[in-house]
Amino acid sequence: MTSNPSALDPAVTERIGAFLRARGLRRTASRIQVLAVLEPVNGHLAVAEIHGRVRACLLEGAQPPDVATIYRTVTTLVDQGVLHALTLDDGVTTYGLATAPHHHAVCTQCASIIEVPARRLSTALEHAMAGSSFSLSDRAGLTLRGLCPQCQSRQTQ
Ligand SMILES: [Zn+2]
Ligand SMILES: [Zn+2]
Repeated sequence: MTSNPSALDPAVTERIGAFLRARGLRRTASRIQVLAVLEPVNGHLAVAEIHGRVRACLLEGAQPPDVATIYRTVTTLVDQGVLHALTLDDGVTTYGLATAPHHHAVCTQCASIIEVPARRLSTALEHAMAGSSFSLSDRAGLTLRGLCPQCQSRQTQ
């Protein structure tokens, strides 16, 4: 086994490896690859997208994982509370980091999902609780709908 089994940038492997170790999780190549792809997204991706991006960012000559491996890895990380799943109206399940409380903004055009930090919406949740008899926490999971930055710029072109 080489010192860099994930076939990613060594600095990324190192950082995500430390993240997994801090949670008492095994540092497998596929876990590091999945988290390396999701980390900069600041949103959610479907398994097929995660798989495509992992393939794209592996170092040259590396053996890419198959979709089944990515799916298993994602499921394990959900069980461990590192990722969480969100299923949209079209039935596609997407996955994002669960490490900080957040809500989701979904693009009505391209279905991309961006995470909105929960603290920015805490006042909105307080108002919503006052106006309904629902108990809503930071983990309530609001889903907001609108246009993502890419689709906005496409519209103005
Ligand atoms: Zn999320
Ligand atoms: Zn969009």
